[in-house]
Amino acid sequence: MAAKQVPRQKKLRSAGLSNPNAIKLDIPTPPTLRECLARGLFGSGISPHGHREMTVAHSKQLIERYPSLYRLADASPVPSSPPFAREGFACGDGWFEIVDRLSTKLSVDPNLVVGQLKEKLGLLRVYFELSPLPSNEIEEATDAALAEAVAESRITCERCGKHGENAQREGHWSVKCDACAAEEARRKKVLLPPWMRRLLALREKTVFERSKLLAASGERSRLDLSPEHALALLEKYPVLYREAWAAPTNPASRFACGGFEISDGWFGIVDRLSARLAKDSALHIVQIKEKYGRLKVYFEIDENAPPDPRLDAEMEAAIDEAADESERTCEVCGEPGTSEERHRWVSVRCGPCDQIDEISAACERIAERMKDMALATFTASGNIQDAVRLALVNIGHAAAGQPPKSRERLPGIDWQRLERLKETQAVMGMNADELWRFAGKEAPKLGRKLR
Ligand SMILES: [Zn+2]
Ligand SMILES: [Zn+2]
Repeated sequence: MAAKQVPRQKKLRSAGLSNPNAIKLDIPTPPTLRECLARGLFGSGISPHGHREMTVAHSKQLIERYPSLYRLADASPVPSSPPFAREGFACGDGWFEIVDRLSTKLSVDPNLVVGQLKEKLGLLRVYFELSPLPSNEIEEATDAALAEAVAESRITCERCGKHGENAQREGHWSVKCDACAAEEARRKKVLLPPWMRRLLALREKTVFERSKLLAASGERSRLDLSPEHALALLEKYPVLYREAWAAPTNPASRFACGGFEISDGWFGIVDRLSARLAKDSALHIVQIKEKYGRLKVYFEIDENAPPDPRLDAEMEAAIDEAADESERTCEVCGEPGTSEERHRWVSVRCGPCDQIDEISAACERIAERMKDMALATFTASGNIQDAVRLALVNIGHAAAGQPPKSRERLPGIDWQRLERLKETQAVMGMNADELWRFAGKEAPKLGRKLR
């Protein structure tokens, strides 16, 4: 769960001060970093915006030892002030000794003031406030000290200070020792919602394992190739799709990571194409995807296979024919479709599937608009209500245009209820309360289902 950014004033209020109004009366300006540290309002380890902070004890030590360098600890932390005044030492406690040693060296220049100190991409970053130009000698010493500290930070666990590795973990660069990395992964697992945990777990699996798991889970996305169809292709053409059994860590094989990056409507085309490509046993797929509304297939030929220009030409022709067919075939359902620019992307859709895209987009627009909106705000704004009413009428029309086949493909949707929304009178008659509930709860859910 992403931590919400909490304004400083709020942070103070939630930090156990008994009378929130008293802050306004007694302290007209927000407290400085030094005051915050004195009250224990800083250095919790993790700041309200999810960044790391050095502990109170270590932050205090640094400020006391190097008063000139960290003089912004006494500056008013208004939004326009340098980040250090607001954030303090924005790195983990494991880097305390690195920062301490660096500070000793930096203190040789009495004009130097730290304007920001933080972790970025797993490295220590220090920025200075403008100061009178130091002598060349001092400037060189400062640069060398900084470079050394950055190099140390790269191999020092930000949490505990032991030897660590700078690596991307779950999308973020950081330096951790093995124990701290494991500990954080455990903590994150507890915090992550189950659906995200499942997704992360799937990322580690091979394409084959992923398809098996997805097939068993019954989860479906309207715009993906169904796991049953993926498994059918893998079973029929195991040599052609052999990357499906490779670990998804080889960046040269997009297929091993991404699998079939197409929607279900092109299954027939890909099945027929695969039968033709499988004739060449030296060939295997490294990527198969939709791009600009057209099927794209990339393959590799085994190095030691004898050259065969005739066979190569046949394979190229098979791919071209399949791609041409894809441009006339609805990606979602396989019915005849047209290739057009829709929602800033070129895609191939039949009429009904195009309308489902519209419903999905409308739901997402509503969800975006309604995010965290209180009923009172909604009730007070006629404009927003009208915008929602209009979107609902459009959804009603799109729903009414769905033939039985496409309704069957999307079980669990109350089509009759959606269809009634096309009656403008009915939608105009909905009061703010009903609208708010539909727009705030049902529309986002429906949008997710149709994605
Ligand atoms: Zn550690
Ligand atoms: Zn379609």
